[in-house]
This record gives sequence, C-alpha cells and structure tokens, in this order.
Amino acid sequence: MQSSPQSERLNLLGLTRPALEAYVGELGSKPFRARQLAHWIYKRGEARIERMTDLAKDFRARLAERAEVRAPSIIEVQRSRDGTRKWKLRADATQAFEMVFIPEDDRGTLCISSQVGCALDCSFCATAQQGFNRNLTTAEIVGQVWLACRELESSDAVARLGAPARAGLEAASHPAATRAVTNVVLMGMGEPLANFRNVVPALRILLDDCGFDLSRRRVTLSTSGLVPQIYRLAEEINVALAVSLHAPDDSLRNELVPINRKHPIAELLEACWHYIDEQNGRSVTFEYVMLDGVNDSPAQARRLARLLAGHPAKINLIPFNPFPGTRYRRSPERTILRFRDELIGRGLVATVRRTRGEDIDAACGQLAGRVIDRTTVRLGSRTLSVVVQA
Ligand code: SAH
Repeated sequence: MQSSPQSERLNLLGLTRPALEAYVGELGSKPFRARQLAHWIYKRGEARIERMTDLAKDFRARLAERAEVRAPSIIEVQRSRDGTRKWKLRADATQAFEMVFIPEDDRGTLCISSQVGCALDCSFCATAQQGFNRNLTTAEIVGQVWLACRELESSDAVARLGAPARAGLEAASHPAATRAVTNVVLMGMGEPLANFRNVVPALRILLDDCGFDLSRRRVTLSTSGLVPQIYRLAEEINVALAVSLHAPDDSLRNELVPINRKHPIAELLEACWHYIDEQNGRSVTFEYVMLDGVNDSPAQARRLARLLAGHPAKINLIPFNPFPGTRYRRSPERTILRFRDELIGRGLVATVRRTRGEDIDAACGQLAGRVIDRTTVRLGSRTLSVVVQA
C-alpha cells in the first residue's frame, strides 16, 4: 500500500488510526495496542520498533519483520539568516521535493509538499515550471512532519522560538517530539486537492490525538481552486482553508491561475462559502500574490473588496518572490500597502505576508526540487507520456 520501491515493508506513517488498529489486529494483537504504537511513533518520535518496549516482544518481532517507520530521506538542508530552514527530500533516485520550517515568536510553521512538482501551471510559480512528476504518498506527507519534529527537536529551533511560544510548549502535555512545529501548512510543492486520496488521510493523522494532535485551526490546506474537491473536502475533514485567488476578475485569473478557465471565480467562491458553512469554519484566507503592474492597482483592490465584502474572508497579500526566468516583478512596498489599505478601508481583513527564507529560495513559490516532468500529453486518441528533464 504505502511501501516504496526500496522497501517491501509497510510504512506505518501512512496509516490512519482505524487502519493502524486493523493492521495490529491482523498481526494477532489487540487493536488497542495501536494506541501504544502511535504513541511511540508520533509522541516520542521513535522509528525503531525494537525500542517500543511496552509492546509484547513477539508482537514487536512480527511487526518489525513486516512494517517500519520510514520518513523521507534528506538530500540537503539549508538554513536562512532569518532562522528559516529548508530540507530537500528524496522521492526516488532522481526526484526531490522540499519542506520549509519557519520559526516565529508565537509559532513554528512547517510548510510541506503534497506532490513532486505540480501540473497546474500557474504563471508566477517556480514549482509549475518544473512540471509534474507524481503524487506523494500519505506516508511521505506525514513523514515530512514526523521528520521535521525529529530534526528540530535535536537542534536549536525550539530555543529560537519566542518566549510566548516556549511557555505554551512547556505547558503542553506533549513530550519533546512535536515541540517546534505548532502549525502545518500545505503550501509547499504541489496542489493538495489534486492528490485528495493521499492528502485527506494525512490530514487525519495530523489532527488525530493519537497522531500529531494539531488543532484544526493550525493545519491549513491551500488550493488553487479545484472546486469539486473543495465540496468533497467539506464532507471529509475540517481544517483551515486557504485559496490562491490572485486576481479580482476572470480574464486576469485565467492568465495567472489557468485552472480558473475550468472553475471561474464565482463558482470557486460559492464552494468556499459552502466549506465554511459545512465545517463551521471562521473564514477562508485568500492568498493574493502582488505582481507589479499586473494585479496591484487600487481599482483592482476595490474590485477584490466587492467580491469578498460581507463574507467570512481574510486576504493575505504575498509579495511576489522572483525566480530565474520569470517575467514578473514584485510590487513596490508602497503599492502593496496602498492595496492593503484599500481593502481595510472597505471593511476587509487584509495582511501582508512577511517574506521568509528568501536567501535560500525557501519563500512561497520558490520551491522546486529537481523534477522529471511526466505530464501526460494527449494526441488525438493516443496518450503518450513525455519525460522532460527539468
Ligand atoms: N497549489 C497550492 C499550494 C502551493 S503554493 C495553491 O496554489 O494554493 C502556496 C502559495 O504560494 C499559493 O498561494 C501560491 O499561489 C503562492 N505562490 C506561488 N508562487 C509564488 C511566488 N513566486 N511568489 C509568491 N507567492 C507565490
């Protein structure tokens, strides 16, 4: 199920609690042992089954023979001057994906990937330029959080958090393993809703009190706007929703976020309000990348305000992060502040995202592990798989 080409063993990081209980049962143990097993994996960050000493010895032996706790392996770690850290992780012999940890005074945010590359082709995003290779498995998605917790625990990351965050962590019931990561955002490489099948179980493990036990407000899924999947998500799980809007009208959004041609703004917003109603959510965060002379005029801000006013919406303005070969430039700071003030003046909640980790290409839209594009191209009735070295 979740085993990789390098190993025939089942990766326990890919199992939700019911699946773990069923598996433990299959191995002849009582399902409640799953709780103990999960405690070792998620609360104590233990990968070595033989060290899980409160599980019966023969059960451990059976388990170790067939299963393992396997996080993605690290190819490279980079640290930014501002404390941000980026890991390049191995997907297979030629493929990589990335995750980023962003320490702040009151939280530690881990930005994880859901796919190797991305198929959506947003014109301002570095990941899009790499093309799409494959979906990450549930174990690879959960494995990023597991790995980051372990890596950060053994480092100075907790010490770097501000006093309020540290105090909160000390008061928390958790032992060491989950300390540095307080928030998880699916804003790394890939479109999470295009990998629905693996992403939803991963979210369940992040929220489960036997898993990472993160509050649903501290787990954010960001989507470019796959409307049918937003409706499905509303039936499945309750996490914070962020939507990459980036334009106040369809003609511009068609250009920036091509999925808009299939699911235009009006439809997308309907789906967002539905999600909030279904899940009793507070609000949807709309991400809006600030592109100089493209989507940053006061008139566009007013148009955006008309779209969202009166709805449970927050707007997060993201200064564009450039990458080699891009045709866009970042809007000047005064333009961004003016845009924000137009929104605030019309009663909206609008903030500017502080750019982090720029010196190590870890900022939004700069993640681009090496990808071999396997985008499938249809030629008449024939389907052929093109492999392009990025
Ligand atoms: N595919 C998902 C999540 C990945 S990107 C989505 O589209 O929401 C996370 C955020 O970074 C998105 O809002 C994305 O539009 C934004 N982003 C992409 N490229 C960027 C860039 N070069 N500069 C700033 N933000 C960017």
